[in-house]
Order: sequence, then structure tokens, then C-alpha cells
Amino acid sequence: MNFELTEEQRMFAESVRRFAETHLAADALKRAHTSRFPVEVARLMAEQGLLGITIPVEDGGQGGTLMDAVIAIEQVASVCPRSADVVQAGNFGPIRTFAEYATPEQKKHFLADLLAGRGVISLGMTEPEAGSAVTELRMAAKVEDDDVVLNGTKIFSTHSPDASVFLIYVRFGPGVDGIGSVLVERGTPGFTVGQPSGFMSGEEWSQLYFENCRISAANVLLGPGGFKRQIAGFNVERIGNSARSLALGRYAYNLAREHATIRKQFGRPLCEFQGLQWKFADMALKLEAAQLLLYRAATNAEGRLPSAYETAVAKLACNQAGFEVANEAVQVMGGLGYSQETLAEYCMRRTRGWMIAGGSIEILKNRIAEGVFERTFPQRQPKAN
Ligand SMILES: Cc1cc2nc3c(=O)[nH]c(=O)nc-3n(C[C@H](O)[C@H](O)[C@H](O)COP(=O)(O)OP(=O)(O)OC[C@H]3O[C@@H](n4cnc5c(N)ncnc54)[C@H](O)[C@@H]3O)c2cc1C
Repeated sequence: MNFELTEEQRMFAESVRRFAETHLAADALKRAHTSRFPVEVARLMAEQGLLGITIPVEDGGQGGTLMDAVIAIEQVASVCPRSADVVQAGNFGPIRTFAEYATPEQKKHFLADLLAGRGVISLGMTEPEAGSAVTELRMAAKVEDDDVVLNGTKIFSTHSPDASVFLIYVRFGPGVDGIGSVLVERGTPGFTVGQPSGFMSGEEWSQLYFENCRISAANVLLGPGGFKRQIAGFNVERIGNSARSLALGRYAYNLAREHATIRKQFGRPLCEFQGLQWKFADMALKLEAAQLLLYRAATNAEGRLPSAYETAVAKLACNQAGFEVANEAVQVMGGLGYSQETLAEYCMRRTRGWMIAGGSIEILKNRIAEGVFERTFPQRQPKAN
């Protein structure tokens, strides 16, 4: 068992850090308060080889590991928290599920733009009546000869106001086995991206409307029966979500730590008050424990998709640590922490959302309990006889 990064990983981390300091540091505060996807950062990252880190070289990616992609998020977020979203979009999000299951033709059509930062892909899973109970989704996909006709609505999709292509969970037939997914390009007739609404984090999302939207059957990513494979791919998204939660918690922690050494009250630096020292001890413990769980899930994936159980444990730990630490950092920094002069408050708002997105902490606990008891616990009401 080795708790250190390898020499190669350390060198990669240093190179990402240098890139971030050179290109992303100056506008970090401004970028955090920009609601739309930072396209200019995506272009820069593409040139630096930071998009498609885990995608095979033959598909246009870097052929790296999931742990490499986690390192990239950590290093970018430590300099510019908002830019970590670009690492997520280019490595962990629907792009990764797409790259796992797409046909060679689909990869040829979509991947080049996504990996060059010329486009971004958004995931349409959640519906007004299907949130945590995602298998209740209604979005209909009717196969008609060589076409598929889509009808339904999606909500809360990250980057939806800016996305060029959407990976949409659909229903080809009844039950879990009827669920699959399709790829829909922006501008397809019958597909409307609604007016943007805001999240607490400042990011925007648009409702997606499909009204007799006709796509080619060549755009089916996973047909009926694809749901389990899709969710397996979604575990990578959860690892990226965990890494960002933790990295933003650590960003706020570092701000608060520095503040506590400089700011004086009652004639002493804040760090000399035991009431605050204990807060830092708790924060350090939470960050370090969650980091080990994150690294375990990422490292054990070793070229495969990460384990559902280890991912759930890591996400729960990182989501809680990230938010609790950022929240405490705001407290330690007083009025300055609550002000938009620093990114502490941004990290707090941002990490709050990841306790809901990508599997809420309650749903993760349900999954962990299944691992604990080695059985499933169906959440639905049993059917009446
Ligand atoms: C920042 C952010 C980004 C998002 N990005 C995307 C995206 O890109 N694509 C996409 O499709 N969706 C996205 N979502 C939506 C997200 O996946 C859903 O919000 C999430 O699945 C919860 O669904 P819901 O909001 O409908 O809440 P509900 O499912 O209504 O749940 C409400 C509360 O009840 C709890 N709950 C529900 N069922 C149970 C249960 N069985 N046991 C215990 N507690 C339970 C939940 O944990 C939650 O606290 C995003 C959400 C956020 C906040």
C-alpha cells in the first residue's frame, strides 16, 4: 500500500499546476461569477492535453488513467475553482460515458469537437417527475424505420445553455429494460433549449423540450436494456463530482488558513485562538479522510469503470467534506468570507449543489447500505396484490 503519488503523477500534477498558474490564475475570481461555460478555458485545456485524459489515444484522447484526471481537477481547482468544471466536462461527464459505448462512427462524428474544446456535451437524465427515481423517466423514444422520434422534457442539465450535443436518457419501452440513451445535436428540429434559469452556484441550466424530434437511429448510444451500462459509466461522473467537491473545500480551507495566520483580533492572530484551531483540526481530518477514499476509488478503477460501492463512499465523503469545510472556512474568515472579494463563499455555494447532483447524499447512503448488507433495498412501494 502506497499513499504517495508516483513520480510520474507528481510531474503531471506540477505541469498542470504551472499551466493553471500561467493561464487561469489572473481571472479566477471573475470566472467564478460567470454563469456560462468558459469556452476559452476549454480551448486552452484542449491544447494542453487536459481534455480526454482517460480516452484512448486511438479515439483522440490522452490514454491516461482516472487518477490522472482526478489530479488534473485538483491542480486546476487549486488555482481556479471554476475552471475545474472544464476538466469535468472534458473527462468525467457524459463525454466519458459516450466514449465508453459509442460506435466508431459516433466517435468520429462527435469526439473531435468535444476534445478540441469547440463543443460541450450535456447530460439529460432528470425529468420533472423523475429525479432520484430516475428509472421513472418518461421521455419517449419511438423507433420508426431508421429514425427515432423523441417526446418529453428534461430539467437541470449542466451546461445545457451552451452545449452543442446532448446525451439523453430515453424510454424505448416499459420498465428499466426499456431505458436507453440517444445523442441529440443542438438545432435538431423538434428540440428546443429553453430560457436559462440559475442555480444557487450561479451556473445556468435550461429546460429541454422534445416535440416529435426526429433523429437518425445512428444516434442511439445504448438501446433498450442499456440503463445499467449507462449508470456504470455515470460512476466516472461521480468521481469527477467528488474530486471537485473536495478540491473546492480545500481551496476554501487554504484561504481560511492563510487568513487565520494574518488577521489579528484582540491583539493576536486568529490561529492562536483554540476555538478556531479545533475547527482547522476538524477540517484537515475531513479533507484528508475523503481524499484517501477518492484516491482508492479512482486508483482501483485501473482502466475499468470505478466500482459503484467505492464511488458512492468516495462521493459521500467528498461531498460532505467539501461543503462542511467550505462552510467553516467562510465562518473563520468572518465578513470577508461571506463577501465576494474572495472565493470562499463561491466554494461554499458550489459544494452545496454536489450534495444533490449526481446522486444525492441520501441516495448514496442507500447504495452504501446495500453494500453493507449485501442485498438490495427497493425504494418503491411494493405492488398491491
Ligand atoms: C448542481 C446540479 C447539477 C445537476 N446536473 C444535472 C445534469 O447535468 N443532468 C441531469 O440530468 N440532472 C442534473 N441535476 C439534477 C439531479 O440529478 C437531481 O436534482 C437529483 O437526482 C435529485 O432529484 P430531484 O432534484 O428531483 O430531487 P428528488 O428526487 O425529488 O429528492 C428530494 C429529496 O429527497 C431525497 N430522496 C429521494 N428519494 C429518496 C430515498 N429513496 N431515500 C432517501 N432520500 C430520498 C433526495 O435525496 C433529496 O434530498 C443536477 C442537479 C444539481 C443540483
